[in-house]
Amino acid sequence: MNFKSKKLAIIALLVLIISAVLCAQAVTKTVYVTASGTKYHTQSCASLSRTKDVIPIDEKEAVEKGYKPCTRCKP
Ligand SMILES: [Zn+2]
Repeated sequence: MNFKSKKLAIIALLVLIISAVLCAQAVTKTVYVTASGTKYHTQSCASLSRTKDVIPIDEKEAVEKGYKPCTRCKP
């Protein structure tokens, strides 16, 4: 491997790492809210088994809408 291709390999690796980091930040966690509730939950939360109207929502969006994390399932 000559110097030039080594440098190219390093650049390619850096691009891969940067895109992986950006990708990880773009992925948001899905949480679940109910039509009448004020908390957001994980999918498996016992509080959700009592209601039919479970709405999936991004955690970020849930926080923006004023929902608080459930104290039982700690989403
Ligand atoms: Zn919960």
